[in-house]
Amino acid sequence: MDGLLYKLSGESHMKIKFIGAVGGIVTGSSYLLEFEKSKILVDCGMFQGEPDVERLNSDPFPYNPAELDFVLLTHAHLDHVGLLPKLVKNGFKGKIISTDATKSIAEIILMDAAKIQEEDNYYGGGNRNYKSREEGGYTNPNALYTREDIPDVMELFETYPIGQQVKLTPDMSFRMREAGHILGSVSFEIWFMNSQGRERKLVMSGDLGQTGARIIKDPDFIREADYVVVESTYGGRNHRDKNSTLLEFLAILQEASKEKSRVIIPTFAVERAQELLYELNLFVEKGLLKGLKYYVDSPLAIKATEIFRQFKSYYDEDAMALLHGGDDPFAFRGLEYIQSPHDSRRIAGERGAVIMAGSGMCTGGRVLHHLINTLPHKDAHIVFVGFQVPGTLGRRLIDGATMVRIHGVEVPVRAQMHTLNGFSAHADQHDLLYWLRSFGKAPREVFVTHGDQTNRTVLAQLIRDDLQLNSVIPEPLQEYVLD
Ligand SMILES: [Zn+2]
Ligand SMILES: [Zn+2]
Repeated sequence: MDGLLYKLSGESHMKIKFIGAVGGIVTGSSYLLEFEKSKILVDCGMFQGEPDVERLNSDPFPYNPAELDFVLLTHAHLDHVGLLPKLVKNGFKGKIISTDATKSIAEIILMDAAKIQEEDNYYGGGNRNYKSREEGGYTNPNALYTREDIPDVMELFETYPIGQQVKLTPDMSFRMREAGHILGSVSFEIWFMNSQGRERKLVMSGDLGQTGARIIKDPDFIREADYVVVESTYGGRNHRDKNSTLLEFLAILQEASKEKSRVIIPTFAVERAQELLYELNLFVEKGLLKGLKYYVDSPLAIKATEIFRQFKSYYDEDAMALLHGGDDPFAFRGLEYIQSPHDSRRIAGERGAVIMAGSGMCTGGRVLHHLINTLPHKDAHIVFVGFQVPGTLGRRLIDGATMVRIHGVEVPVRAQMHTLNGFSAHADQHDLLYWLRSFGKAPREVFVTHGDQTNRTVLAQLIRDDLQLNSVIPEPLQEYVLD
């Protein structure tokens, strides 16, 4: 009924402006939706990676934050929530809409990001002389925000369950759908009226996960859309299958067990760490691994694991079955959670140890001191289990660097590098095309974002060739009327 007014006026229009995760840059996800009477931002992500990309975080927002009514969040990764504190500092007073799990994860992610900025390790890629505040370092005058700014952001959250349709403003309503990417992640279905007063629907994929991922549910398939915005992180290629990935992982760990060597896993604290624990739990409980110690050396991952324990309604059937059978996937023989920096140093030289530490792309955090200790050893293993953005230390290591600089120290690289991309939290090319194929009525346009030059181009072409749909690759700040 609310749509009637706009039907008569004939002036209703909706515009989408592509702010981030465009121009071949994967990070900085943000989209501005301008309805006749309201302005809504979808995600407010931080730019991450090369210094040229990270510098974009300091640019003024290309809109007035005070004029926004709402921010919708697809999930709590930093490249989707990382500039929220800056948005609030610049006058945003509306509500932030998300799932309850996203709210909880966003809080720990933002606190962590603030801490890293305070310590001026933000642009460092792990290559700066670094001192934490505790070690007599100083607060970075260029920090976009500090930990003190986070409570003001958290106050604005309003959470909704997945699957509930909500009329948010007179000219739009939305529903969140499972995106299967990380705990609490969603795609958005957004309904609005076009200039003729006809209802139109935009679907924003958010980041999509792999079908069959551990713990969390699979992505929902959405049947209808007039317009779709789809991510393309892995639009150009397919992951190695999960089973081979697991076998490879197990083989590395068994070798380490035999040789009493060390395995460092740079770990994203949210989702990846819990997924690895889930697999390790199964390996250990089945007796496939013996004699190793396992450390989660990341206060952030410990907090994230607590959130996972808290939001069990987001689990898939397998994880539920495991729980009901009395097996806690986040606790098993040999596993220890490391909280204090002192204990982190204690385990640094330990052999026969598997150490999971952040940050996932080696841009900071405790993983750096473990790398300094471990990279020079031929029998040690570094296992990458997630996407490594160009410009990060993680990327340089998988690209075959033989010498790297960490905390001002030149470190020779002799350890064995492994990349297990089957663990990816992202849908691959098959998954993305399959997800897009589920739209019964052909969408009028598919906007391809959140991919580097190759991945976005390949996916856009496949959408045209294989799915026979219109696809477009929007450029930064490009605007489209969705009629
Ligand atoms: Zn993500
Ligand atoms: Zn993302």
